[in-house]
Amino acid sequence: MRIMLVDDEPFVLKLLARQLHAAGQQDITACESAFAALERLGGAEPPVDLIFCDLQMPDMDGAEFLRHLADRAYTGSLILVSGESERILRTAEKLAQAHRLRVLGALAKPVEPAQLRRLLAQCTPGGAAPAGLATGGPIEVAEFAAAIAAGELENHYQPKIDLASGRVCGVETLVRWRHPEHGLIFPDRFIALAEENGLIDALTAVVLDAALAQGERWRAAGIDLSIAINVSMANLTSLDFLERAFHSFANSRFPLDGLVFEVTESRLMANPLAALEILTRLRLRNIGLSIDDFGTGHSSLAQLRDVPFNELKLDRSFIHGAAHDGALRAIAEGSTLMARQLGMKSVAEGIEDEDDWEFVRAMGCDQAQGYFIARPMPGDRIPDRISGWTCR
Ligand code: C2E
Ligand code: CA
Ligand code: CA
Repeated sequence: MRIMLVDDEPFVLKLLARQLHAAGQQDITACESAFAALERLGGAEPPVDLIFCDLQMPDMDGAEFLRHLADRAYTGSLILVSGESERILRTAEKLAQAHRLRVLGALAKPVEPAQLRRLLAQCTPGGAAPAGLATGGPIEVAEFAAAIAAGELENHYQPKIDLASGRVCGVETLVRWRHPEHGLIFPDRFIALAEENGLIDALTAVVLDAALAQGERWRAAGIDLSIAINVSMANLTSLDFLERAFHSFANSRFPLDGLVFEVTESRLMANPLAALEILTRLRLRNIGLSIDDFGTGHSSLAQLRDVPFNELKLDRSFIHGAAHDGALRAIAEGSTLMARQLGMKSVAEGIEDEDDWEFVRAMGCDQAQGYFIARPMPGDRIPDRISGWTCR
């Protein structure tokens, strides 16, 4: 692996180089400034696989260096190193990610050998980002419309745990597109497309109908779960969506008080009056309303004031790692407390490890969801997963 170190302090460079040698690395270039690093990167052949970058440097600081790396389309990995506070390290990490650089992590000085080894183990030389499932080109609107009509969308369900009892109390419905050639395609690639091209009502209708039917099957098998589905703000611009939903409810025996609509505002409310009417009428039917991704984008305090939400869903960006990050912890705890004072349920998503799990339990959150508990899965796998969880 070709490694480059960038730090203005010669002593730090020497120490880090020694630690890397001890970890089995041979090909190390040390640079005492970001300028020197950029110069060397220019002609580096074969290209550098991994850069360790200090943030605080006199001539060009780490943040500016990141921008130059992005401009040069640097495809290797990056580890940020700093004696600054944890918060500055996190901010720099976000900045690097926003530049679409591959950040393996951040190290506080003095660097701990064990932590260094852990990050090194994550680095795969060559630089190419791991190819995801079906990373084909852009999706054609007509192709996607046809896929909805052809029944190629399928629901997966991710369990949610009631933290007081430790039981699986519900699921969140997450849509996938089973493409005949490319396999499973995830919603991040087509939700915005559907919203922008008038297909989101059709998508949500298919998801809702399948979820209601699945809910009935679980109940027939003696499994009583609440079901959340994701509703886009774009669904709430006209009453068509509401009429379609009422029609679905009329054709289903699934109890409406077991249904939760998670609403994310990915853009400004186009028609606030229509949205407010639809949400109020859903709530009057006893359907739960959850403010999704709370604290990000436009899912804000103003919405809490104006919309009859009865559940607050804390975004995973505030949960995972909160046990070790004072700022995240303050946001997560503050939001949970606010939910309680407003008489709302709180749900934490993004529980990825045991530390997250212990953190949300101690925080007094009502429900938890995340990879540590279970990944989203097809509906027929849920019964087994529930028995498995109960044992665990
Ligand atoms: P979301 O509502 O925030 O849903 C949670 C996403 O986080 C899901 O991604 C889920 O698989 C993922 N996730 C769950 N646990 C963890 C965890 O512990 N760590 C991490 N890093 N991620 C976790 P997915 O299925 O790719 O969905 C992405 C987004 O697409 C959803 O975000 C939601 O906004 C949207 N979406 C999904 N299905 C629908 C739908 O039927 N309608 C609409 N309008 N949007 C949908
Ligand atoms: Ca959601
Ligand atoms: Ca979220």
